[in-house]
Amino acid sequence: MIEMKHISKSYGKNEVLHDINLTIQEGEKVVILGPSGAGKSTLIRMMNYLEEPSSGEVLINEVPLTKKNHLQMVRDTSAMVFQQFNLYPHMTALQNVTLAPIKLQMIPKDAAEKEGMRYLKRVGMESKANEYPQNLSGGQQQRVAIARALAMNKPMILFDEPTSALDPEMVQEVLDVMVSLSKENITMVCVTHEMGFARQMADRVMFVADGTILEEGNPDEFFDHPKNPRAQAFLSKILH
Ligand code: ADP
Ligand code: MG
Repeated sequence: MIEMKHISKSYGKNEVLHDINLTIQEGEKVVILGPSGAGKSTLIRMMNYLEEPSSGEVLINEVPLTKKNHLQMVRDTSAMVFQQFNLYPHMTALQNVTLAPIKLQMIPKDAAEKEGMRYLKRVGMESKANEYPQNLSGGQQQRVAIARALAMNKPMILFDEPTSALDPEMVQEVLDVMVSLSKENITMVCVTHEMGFARQMADRVMFVADGTILEEGNPDEFFDHPKNPRAQAFLSKILH
């Protein structure tokens, strides 16, 4: 579904990622791990062209993204959930969820609202459909943000540390929603520091550090027997 070929990214003279090559299959659940500043956000944001690579190619279903085609290509492919939930404060939960379907996909309001309620239900938020974000907890807001991403009806959702801004007691409710999504055919790419979650939902984990993917593999193998010394050090720090 998505492929990166010899991707590098620099900010000025600072090369953040160097010669990244990866392929993500349709329906695959991939977790990206790594220390802070490693380039994880930069990497995931290049998958939807929120960041443009300095060199190399990003392909979606084998079609290379270009300056010209990327808006449409990305719009057809992925939605994103951010660390900061980015809900519109002046809109209710349901209005947040139905905004893109109504404005971008031209779905009639009634139908969009019906669908929107279905997505809110899926994240356990149907009873808060008419609440404004300020009246919702962080965990509830993030669940609405996930419903909003689902409502865009894309084959892939990108998550960049969706629980990092939450108070600890709210992390699990959001992880639970994501685990339940991971049972479906949707392609999920998720940057997270939640190791138990990663192990539970990922088909594959990628460990990013020093500007590159230092190790990747199936989660049990990676967590039980990391091979790369940087990955070993990272895991022993984070798991103890
Ligand atoms: P991570 O998500 O793994 O913490 P990031 O991808 O956010 O890492 O950042 C990787 C590196 O790139 C960091 O050193 C960061 O300071 C730098 N960086 C990220 N975005 C920008 C930007 N817009 N301009 C300049 N430097 C940036
Ligand atoms: Mg980041």
